[in-house]
Amino acid sequence: MECLKVFHRDILTVRSHQWKYYVEPYSGCAFQCAYCLYYGSESYIRRLRPQPDLLPAVERDLAAMPHKQIVYVGATADPYQALERKTRWTRQILQQLIAHDIPVVILTKSPLILRDADLLLELHRRRHVMVQFTVLTTNEDKARVLEPGAPTVAQRLDTASRLAGLGIPVHFHLSPVIPGLYDGDEMNATVRSIAGHGGRCIYSNILGMRTRNTDILFDAVARISPRAAAALASEYARGAANGKNVYSPVFGRVYREMARLNRICRDNHIAFISEFIPGLDVFDASTFEQGIFRFGLPAVYQMAGLFETPFERQGWERFRAGIRKRYAALDEEYLNLVKTFWDDGSLFENTAIACETANGDHLYYRSDRLNLRESVLTWD
Ligand code: SF4
Repeated sequence: MECLKVFHRDILTVRSHQWKYYVEPYSGCAFQCAYCLYYGSESYIRRLRPQPDLLPAVERDLAAMPHKQIVYVGATADPYQALERKTRWTRQILQQLIAHDIPVVILTKSPLILRDADLLLELHRRRHVMVQFTVLTTNEDKARVLEPGAPTVAQRLDTASRLAGLGIPVHFHLSPVIPGLYDGDEMNATVRSIAGHGGRCIYSNILGMRTRNTDILFDAVARISPRAAAALASEYARGAANGKNVYSPVFGRVYREMARLNRICRDNHIAFISEFIPGLDVFDASTFEQGIFRFGLPAVYQMAGLFETPFERQGWERFRAGIRKRYAALDEEYLNLVKTFWDDGSLFENTAIACETANGDHLYYRSDRLNLRESVLTWD
């Protein structure tokens, strides 16, 4: 592939990405979110431009796609920034996806997506689209500090409501959760608001502290609350000592934050997917897999669903036959990666699927308790 990139490279991407490919209309993002894993310098904004020769390359990649896979638009730069009004790069990619009958998931913070409602409706007619928005908090003052170049939270929620009103599936990232950011009822109010604006599901993970943009993030959080910034520094101190590019706080803290969101989502009758702890997910697989997920690769929380009978052991061959049968989009490349994590024991970390070894083979089974990792998460 020339410009479609594959998401899956480690256990974190297998936990959270059903979509195989992503494509970026722009090579930078002007929204300047302090927590962005990609925004680390002024040059990320200065680099903001349409990717040269992108459209012919997308065309070649789509024509060469071996079988129908989801393409994700907006993984590392928002596809509906102001420049999109002029270039219409994102719109043209959507047209190409329609022409090739390829499903798409779009992540944005921008109401400009409404301009493309005609294309979204055509995609929706084929059950080929999902739109995702990011909302960390409905407190606009905090959002302005954390996401200074992005549309307001009210604009995002209103846009979500309009798309949901057209029948288009809308999901939200309440992510990253920044420890110490939320006061009183704030997280509850944020989930309530998302549910009230048509959101069907919330994805979340804890803030990954990126060595490159630590200063930007700490400056922003300190402007909201110096106390929260000091607490953040101490929460991430152990991960900072690890020498990796991105790191989490200790796992007990991740668990507490995700368990709180799990409870709030249950109370508000909205599905929840925790990218770090699939064992906390609340969703109905059969409903999900009738929509765009029918073209998806199974993420860990879906694979865990293949262990329906408690304590019944499954070896690799039986498991492989089970996921092949259930997930039509599964390909050898993904299956080989899953096998790596099956063998090293990380595949079902943080779920209720436990492992035992017999004659050198791993056998997995559904147990009655979460098998929680106890350490700092790090990734590159
Ligand atoms: S909108 Fe997304 S890609 Fe753009 S700066 Fe914010 S987090 Fe980064």
